[in-house]
Amino acid sequence: MVTYSPLRYAVGVDLGGTKIEMGVVDNRGTIHHRLRLQVEKGAENVQRQLVEGITQLLQQANTPVLGVGIGVAAQIERTTGTVIFAPNLNWHQVPLKSYLERMLKLPVHIDNDVRVITYGEWLYGAGKGCQHLVCLFIGTGIGSGVVINGELISGFSNTFGEVGHLSVDFKGPRCTCGNLGCMEAFAGGWGLAARAKELISQSPKELAQPLLALAEENGHIISAKLVVDAYHRGDKLAGQVIAQAKQALVIGCAGIVNVLNPQRLILGGGVVDGLPELVADVDQGVRQYALKAATNKLEVVVASLTKEAGVVGSAAMLFH
Ligand SMILES: [Zn+2]
Repeated sequence: MVTYSPLRYAVGVDLGGTKIEMGVVDNRGTIHHRLRLQVEKGAENVQRQLVEGITQLLQQANTPVLGVGIGVAAQIERTTGTVIFAPNLNWHQVPLKSYLERMLKLPVHIDNDVRVITYGEWLYGAGKGCQHLVCLFIGTGIGSGVVINGELISGFSNTFGEVGHLSVDFKGPRCTCGNLGCMEAFAGGWGLAARAKELISQSPKELAQPLLALAEENGHIISAKLVVDAYHRGDKLAGQVIAQAKQALVIGCAGIVNVLNPQRLILGGGVVDGLPELVADVDQGVRQYALKAATNKLEVVVASLTKEAGVVGSAAMLFH
């Protein structure tokens, strides 16, 4: 006889730089009620938006919840749930957890967005059933979440997994963090754009011209998306930028696989969405450059929860 334990529910919140996505999620990872809000300016306004939004969702759901989980693109103080610094929101030292717990009278868990998404992928997505995994998300920057021995690793000061700042070339370009040749300075969204601009300035006019013409249609802005689009159209200079990005990713991922010995390496984020062949390239390259003992049974796969991962993963913090 099959028995089903009753479903449990929690609110999951993905607090981004421009949008707030939230939902009531059950412990099988299904979202039942959703709400999307545009982020207002200032921490006080956003905190009010969160309280109002969550209250509205709870009224719709009309079921008890275990609490609220929130993923933020920020450095979080783990014990107090204070947002130390959130660059996209321009927040410094915002005591988000204590404020929301006081207002909502519910337990609130807050963590870094990438770690929360990793949690979602681990429990409900591409990492299901796996006890050793690395999730690598390549968006504007490159972030990661790591599960080792069935535990999501946080590190001493809760910054574990900043693999975007793993240097793959000590003679490489200066990164935003101050280091040289970081993986994200080549392969993160901002890195793709920066390397393209650099190449344009160094290249003969005829080589730079097609990309410059594309940029002109785009308000003279050279973005990662523009570089990826140009690459798909066969632009030579964009091709060089992408080839270099792939190389940086392969070398970086080979190092990560050697150091952490994951069973599964999960790749996701906007740059992977734009360049889906990256998954096969990294798979092949890592097998070529990392230790055989670390790659024999390694699986390199694409993230599967897409845009819902933040909401589902945030809520999942309450179930486990
Ligand atoms: Zn860096």
